[in-house]
Amino acid sequence: MQYHIILTKECNLKCEYCQGGSDSLPREIRYSIDDLKKFISLDETPILEFYGGEPLLRIETLEHIMDSIPARFVIQTNGLLLNELKSHYLKKFHSILVSIDGKRDVTDQARGNGVYDRIMDNIKLIRQKEFAGDLVARMTVVQGTDIYENVMHLLTLKEPGFDHVHWQLDFEMFWEAWEHTVPGLSKCLDSYNSGISSLIIWWVLEMQQTGKVSGIVPFTGVMNSLLNDTDSNLRCGSGIDFYTIMPDGRISACPVSIDFDFSVIGSIYDDLPSSLPGKAKVGEPCTSCDIFKTCGGRCLFVNRSQQLLRENGYPIICSTVRHLVKELKEAVPQIQTLINAGVIKKSDFDYPEFNNGCEIIP
Ligand code: SF4
Ligand code: SF4
Repeated sequence: MQYHIILTKECNLKCEYCQGGSDSLPREIRYSIDDLKKFISLDETPILEFYGGEPLLRIETLEHIMDSIPARFVIQTNGLLLNELKSHYLKKFHSILVSIDGKRDVTDQARGNGVYDRIMDNIKLIRQKEFAGDLVARMTVVQGTDIYENVMHLLTLKEPGFDHVHWQLDFEMFWEAWEHTVPGLSKCLDSYNSGISSLIIWWVLEMQQTGKVSGIVPFTGVMNSLLNDTDSNLRCGSGIDFYTIMPDGRISACPVSIDFDFSVIGSIYDDLPSSLPGKAKVGEPCTSCDIFKTCGGRCLFVNRSQQLLRENGYPIICSTVRHLVKELKEAVPQIQTLINAGVIKKSDFDYPEFNNGCEIIP
């Protein structure tokens, strides 16, 4: 299973949508690495994903964990301190997820001046230091973002470039508190959906012209299910195969909802990894939804906090999922033709290899 390890709640940025994240105490790890090791050793195939705050603010703890616990390692970072990771540890990472929102102006507007350039310098450096794993650009998409332009920007960067691009909608705009402060939402959703359609057209064209399946994570993950006719659970895996170990050792089903009672389902002291699945699940309206088996429910946090959403918040979010799934379904015949002709392989859509912290459905 996959465990997010919150190394600290401190962050060296104050991005528009996060403002430094959860303020609840404790902000620093209170359990011993031995306690963590004891818990993780009960899982035969653990994946540890360092998370924060900004996990690279606690490099010594990170190194200690990597030295002490046998696991596959992933990190989700804002990228500013990647230059401080020694080559020995870099090479041990299966995947590095870097938060970046697209072009320089878009990224710097949300994250701070100069952030884009520092990320670019650092991803170049880690490649020079022989990090050979999966480098994922993780975008936060705020209202008004040109999704086509910014995904294309990240996807087509070269030396340094990213292997995959993933994004999440900044759903703060769907919360009740924002209802009267964010005008023009429906126009922005139309523009987002239209950008998704354009991206899918480009994605398929690229397959036809180059035989390459470009690493657009939401498309690849959903298309994989459609091609193989498989049902999906909640795709981020929260409460299924994906948990977050909080600084005090309690375990949350989701890394974002750590301060909500529904999400806190155990602790490394009192529970076994095998006792965690099924303790927090999505419910209605997802379980009765006609595309539940493809969508998986999108987000446990939103599903269990519907009372906090703005009026019609759920249908508004779902309209983006429905559009994505519909457009990908329509692309299936073209993609199947390319597979049958040997231009691409069905296995090109086998991503991610394991739950790497990409939620698949934005
Ligand atoms: S489309 Fe909406 S209602 Fe349907 S499963 Fe997904 S999140 Fe749930
Ligand atoms: S998609 Fe929702 S439930 Fe899943 S990790 Fe993200 S915030 Fe948590």
